[in-house]
Amino acid sequence: MGLDSLAEKVETRTEHPDHQFLVGLLNEEIVKQGTKRSEDRTPSHYYSPSGLGKCKRSLYYKRLKAPVNPNPNVSRENIDKQDHGTDRHQRLQHYLSSIDHEDYQPLSVKDLNRDYLDIVSEEEYETLVVDTRYHLRFKVDWIANIRDTTYIIEIKTNNYFAHKDRTEESPYHTLQSVCYSLSLGINKVIYLYELSGGDFNKKPFLKIVTQEDRDKVLNKINQVEEYLSKNELPPKDTSNCKFCNYKHLCKQDQNVEG
Ligand code: SF4
Repeated sequence: MGLDSLAEKVETRTEHPDHQFLVGLLNEEIVKQGTKRSEDRTPSHYYSPSGLGKCKRSLYYKRLKAPVNPNPNVSRENIDKQDHGTDRHQRLQHYLSSIDHEDYQPLSVKDLNRDYLDIVSEEEYETLVVDTRYHLRFKVDWIANIRDTTYIIEIKTNNYFAHKDRTEESPYHTLQSVCYSLSLGINKVIYLYELSGGDFNKKPFLKIVTQEDRDKVLNKINQVEEYLSKNELPPKDTSNCKFCNYKHLCKQDQNVEG
């Protein structure tokens, strides 16, 4: 192989301007669509299971539908990670829905007959519901009877290092399972953690939600609701302000109209 053709081959594989141009176009499109999705999201005044770990003041602002920080941190990396998680959820839910075994039966939210749950929307594999008792809105990945027990099944994707060291569910995810349990009246949750990339191996963990777990969540909701009824700002908890959407209101101790 002559030097000229070798140079051409290297350029073709790695540094050709068209390749970089294409990657640039793709990244721009990902950011454009991800930003639009985030801007189109209607702010909600419901608690979310993933948000209940936040400080009471930020939950108070959320319940009042206060305007969020106009400069959300939308990066290409974060959008790609979210997209990957969503795609993988759908694929695994498809497999879960296709299993044909006498000891396994998927259940829908409707099958549970909880009259306090409002079904907001039903998609192929996900149902968006509101627990009208606690102003709690959420989507559940999966519910199934396995042998004689009913489980909530939560799918989570992990990067290599988080997956390698994982020996139990993340405390951040525990709070979500407590909320689902509270609203669905099911106390067993199977977390299905998957390594994204590599061999996609799966690690299941069982969480049994206790009444004490549920009471902690209810206490927090009740406290925020009490501040709302008094129209009084809860105190600041500055231990986790970095990604808070309400810094612009909080730093001025500014209350908002409900
Ligand atoms: S900025 Fe910090 S203290 Fe204020 S609402 Fe947000 S998380 Fe709470």
